[in-house]
Amino acid sequence: MPTIFSQIAAGEIPARVVYEDETTMAFLDATPLAPGHTLVIPKDEYPRLNDVPADVASELYATIHQLVPAVEAAVDADASTVAFNNGEAAGQEVPHVHCHILPRFEGDGGSNVHGIAG
Ligand code: C5P
Repeated sequence: MPTIFSQIAAGEIPARVVYEDETTMAFLDATPLAPGHTLVIPKDEYPRLNDVPADVASELYATIHQLVPAVEAAVDADASTVAFNNGEAAGQEVPHVHCHILPRFEGDGGSNVHGIAG
């Protein structure tokens, strides 16, 4: 059974896609912890970071690198928490590698990306 993110990557489930290329995709989190909360995924399904081949990891990082300032600017954030939950015990709910770009604001009191306290 493909993960929900594989289904989004295949266009089988709608999402608010903000970026897409051959290898990676980014869309708004369905349950955002802050305005602009974005998830970046490899389109192919890999459960954990260490499962991702180096060339795909490189593409994934390039997309993250490009999107962090764009997401911050889009919601006028002061900063962002950029995080992977890697494995169930770390709070990873969807077993398809995804990077959270969580916009942060001065005085927001800290946020929590399903286990990563900021
Ligand atoms: O790191 P973790 O696996 O806990 O994060 C999963 C994220 O995927 C959550 O932030 C959740 O809101 C998001 N999600 C989503 N669309 C879905 C299912 C989960 O944006 N259909």
